[in-house]
Formats: sequence, C-alpha cells, structure tokens
Amino acid sequence: MRSSSPLGEFDIIEKYFQQSKLRQDVLLGVGDDAALVIPAENSQIAISTDTLVEGVHFFSDIPPHALGHKALAVNLSDMAAMGAEPRWVTLAITLPGVDETWLEQFCSGFFDLAEYFNVSLIGGDTTKGPLSITVTVHGIVPAGKALYRSGAKPGDRVYVTGSLGDSGLALAHLQQQLSLTPQQLELSLKRHYYPLPRVLAGYGLRDVASAAIDISDGLYNDLQHILRQSHCSATLNLEHIPMSETLSEAVGVDRGLQFALTGGEDYELCFTVPESNKGSLETALAYSGVPYTVIGQLAPGTGEIRLHYQEQPYHLEGLGWDHFSHENK
Ligand code: ADP
Ligand code: MG
Repeated sequence: MRSSSPLGEFDIIEKYFQQSKLRQDVLLGVGDDAALVIPAENSQIAISTDTLVEGVHFFSDIPPHALGHKALAVNLSDMAAMGAEPRWVTLAITLPGVDETWLEQFCSGFFDLAEYFNVSLIGGDTTKGPLSITVTVHGIVPAGKALYRSGAKPGDRVYVTGSLGDSGLALAHLQQQLSLTPQQLELSLKRHYYPLPRVLAGYGLRDVASAAIDISDGLYNDLQHILRQSHCSATLNLEHIPMSETLSEAVGVDRGLQFALTGGEDYELCFTVPESNKGSLETALAYSGVPYTVIGQLAPGTGEIRLHYQEQPYHLEGLGWDHFSHENK
C-alpha cells in the first residue's frame, strides 16, 4: 500500500465513502448535489453535529480506526441523549493528504459502528487541510417523545449509565500527568478510543426520563446544563458514583471521583426520573442491557450542585472541560 497516491477527491469519495448497502429509506446517497431520504411518519427529525480537530480533540497518534469509530460515536451519543434513533449521517473530512492505509482504517472504524446501528452515510465534503472531522447525524424520534435538557423537575432522581472517569484517566496518561500499568492503560484507552453510544438506553428512557444529556464534558459540567435549563439544583451522593475497578485501583477513590466528575468523554447518559416513574425504569432499560445507578436528587434552584460523601459536604478540585476557558496541552 502506498503512503501517498494520485487519488483525486472524487476517487477518494467513490472508493472510501460510498457505502455498498444503504438503508431502504435513502432514495439518493453519495454522488448527487444533495441526499434524499424518506421521513418517517408521526416522527420528528433530530439533527446534531460534532467536530473533532487534531490537537484539540485527539492527538496525532490516535489509531485511525479509533478515530473513525469515535467521530461517529460522539454523534450517535447525542441521538441517544435525545431518545432518537440515528438513521442518516454526513461526513465532512479535511485531510492533510491522501494516505490510503489511514483512510481504510478510519473507514473501517466508522462503518463498523454505522452498520451496527443501521446508520447510512449519505453525503459529506472532502477537503485538504489540517486533519478535522465533522459528522452530522439525522435521527428520528416518535412525535413528542424526545428527551430535552429542560424537562427535569424538583424531586426527580438523577441517574447515570455505565461507569464514569475511565476515559479521562486514559487521557491523563496520554498527557503524562500519571502513569498507568499496561493493563490499566489498555482498559481505560478502550473507553477513551471506543466510547459506546447508549442508543438503546435512549429509546428506553423516552417514556420514563424527564430530561437527559450525554456526558461529554464531565458529569459536573453536563448535569449543570440540565439543571440550568430545568431551573433546578442537585445534591449528588458521591459514594454512589459508578467507577470502574481500574479507575479506583489506579488513582484511589478521591482522585477517581475527580475523574468521574470532571474528566470528559465518557459518553454515558445522565438522566432524571420522576418518583412516579421509578418503578418503570428497570423495565425501560432492561432491553438495552445498560447498567445504571441513582446518584442524587433535584431541588429547586439555578444550577447549583451540592456534593456529599456519606452525608458530609465534599470539596471537588477542578471543573469540567470548557473549550473557551482552558488551554489544551
Ligand atoms: P458539491 O460540489 O456539490 O459540493 P462534492 O464534490 O463536494 O459536491 O461531493 C460530491 C458528492 O460526494 C456529494 O454527494 C457529497 O455529498 C459526497 N461526499 C463528498 N465528500 C464526502 C464524504 N467525506 N463522505 C461522504 N460523502 C461525501
Ligand atoms: Mg462539496
């Protein structure tokens, strides 16, 4: 395989971005001026975009297969947080040059995940420049069933899926802020490179959750979005925050909590459930097989988060990731 080749823009598109099998609701995919899809009846269309920029969202040594997976996964995660079913994606990719080995691996990571969720790539843009990837996903949600950030009410319980902090732990190792054992690195890097969007959990939550968000910037930051938009405050019981054995073994409980609350890129869901729906939650999430944990409760407020550890107030160092208030390394 050549590391560079005379492939032009249209050759690249045809060879790498033209999927052989498309969903039946795609009338026209890659190759025309626009794609055409058939909308579903009694549904609303959910649309979301996320960009990954080299040096900001990933280091240049990220395996291209992981990058392909992650670029799609972070977008599917937004669909999950809305309770939407992802159907169609577009991919705007800026490449510094044509490296076919790189493209093959990127596409294999991207399409493996797309096929798993029956999502079709229906268009995009291919340009030359510093490596950057923008994916836009379109999904559908039964009319009136989407999960908003603004739907939570005082008294609702706060939940998270899966476990938190592993992705941030891997990132800290990559940034040489700490040193993991090879096994700890393998487990946490898997979470960092291959986040699993909680799409099926999102479907289950449509009828029971009052609000939801996916955790991309750390639980502390992302929960605040729900709180502010829902005019609530929250008390979190930190002893219930789900952490992997890898995380607590690598850095202990205190620092582990810091990763779980402020380390980004977990792509788990944080959601709220009214007391009246508590009994339905187990059934609602049973089909997804996704583990979940209750971590706190809402009260009236304007976005405050009170942290408790075994009933005692707890002080947390550092806050979550904000692109405009932090300088990345
Ligand atoms: P236009 O000149 O109309 O902007 P382009 O030449 O950019 O069209 O793209 C040609 C076709 O290839 C379009 O259908 C576009 O959606 C598709 N396309 C371009 N880049 C990508 C990509 N990275 N992934 C998927 N489809 C792409
Ligand atoms: Mg174009």
